[in-house]
Parts: sequence; C-alpha cells; structure tokens
Amino acid sequence: MAIAKSFGALSRRAALLGAVLLLSGWTPPEQPSTPPASVRHALPTADVLIDAGHGGIDSGTHWGDIMEKDINLAISSRLYLILRSHGVRAVLNRTGDYALSDENRWHRASRHTRDLSQRGGLTEEIQPRMFVSIHVNWSPRGRKRGPLVLHQAEGRSALLASFIQDGLNRQQRANGVPTLGKRFYVLNRVRVPSVIVETTFLNDPLDRAMLTSPRGQTRIAHAIAEGILAYRCVAP
Ligand SMILES: [Zn+2]
Repeated sequence: MAIAKSFGALSRRAALLGAVLLLSGWTPPEQPSTPPASVRHALPTADVLIDAGHGGIDSGTHWGDIMEKDINLAISSRLYLILRSHGVRAVLNRTGDYALSDENRWHRASRHTRDLSQRGGLTEEIQPRMFVSIHVNWSPRGRKRGPLVLHQAEGRSALLASFIQDGLNRQQRANGVPTLGKRFYVLNRVRVPSVIVETTFLNDPLDRAMLTSPRGQTRIAHAIAEGILAYRCVAP
C-alpha cells in the first residue's frame, strides 16, 4: 500500500512536469519524459489548475478530423497565458497531445477512469483554489449551440460557474444557465471548487468556426478568464 502510494506521488509529480516546464518557457516534446530531481522537488502551487480535456488516444468529440482535444488545448493554453498576465498563478495539466492516463500507474482501473483520476489526483498534489476543466460540447441532433458550465453541489463551485457562464454568455450573446454536473467523475472526485466548461457546440457551423479559429479561441479564453477573475474578487 505504501509502495503503491509512493509510486502514485511520483507519477503525479511527473504529470506536472509539463506545467513546470511551461512556467519556465520551455517547449514541450511530443511525449513527456522523466523530470530531473531538481524539477521533481519544485512543484508549483496554484490559484487555478486548468484541465485541458482529453488528449492522446482520447480525442473527445470530433467533427471530421477536427478533434475536441486539440481545441481544448488551444483554448487552455490561451487561458493560461491570459491568467498569468493578470498575475494569477495558473497551472496547465497538459501541454501537448498525450493522455494523462499514460502517467497514472497508481489506479488499477480502465484507461478512461485512470485518465480522470489522474486529473483529480493532481489537484490533491498542488491544492489549487479552483479547478477549471475545458471541453467542447456536442449535440446528437445538432440543434444546440452556446456555452454551458457544469458545477459541483457546492456553493463556491456554483459561484465560479455562474461567473464563467456570465462571461461566456456575453461573449457569445447566449443565455445559458450553469447546471449541476451530477454524473461527471471529475466534479465528484475533486475536493476543490471545480467546474467543467463546455465552451460551445462543435456540431453548430457558427460555433465550430469560432472554436477552430485562433481569434475565436482567444475570445473564448478571455471570457473564461473574465469569469475566473471576477470570482477571485469575491470568493473566500
Ligand atoms: Zn470533453
């Protein structure tokens, strides 16, 4: 048990390498490598842990060859830079196209569950004030559009969701309402105020144009950052 736990801590530390190296302005390789001892012992603390949804073998939703995982990373990277420019201590948990489950050797479960528990485990490692998971939505009938923020059954999470929803509603001229995300593993697992941001729908042509253009990705990231900054002003 103790051995398994220590392996868990090491693998979670390794998963943070990308964020540590990003902080120092280093360009990540395609696959993460084992960090040197000096880096392993210098893990960041954070106000915001940005979770770039999916990655590697897990593409998330897709439209032709447009993959959710790539859009999530593009928006998350922009969000990271915007927050840092405002002096917010942000950490990004994925800086390239790889699966977080590859780094999780401490949880005997399916790849999908290991991926999710790795994302949750990182929050325990660095204890951020909030966890913001970035995703793209998809509607089976293709009629829906606009942003939707899911939250935990907890006041600070609901407050964070309402600020981010408000920022995205204004940016997209939408009127979405934050929703309790009961069946989402990450929201149930993570012990800090957490939200899942479904930025908008990939199946809608106008939303898709926004999601796939650098300008649109930047506008979405600014709207999410606006919500996070507003929440920081009022949250304990
Ligand atoms: Zn997703």
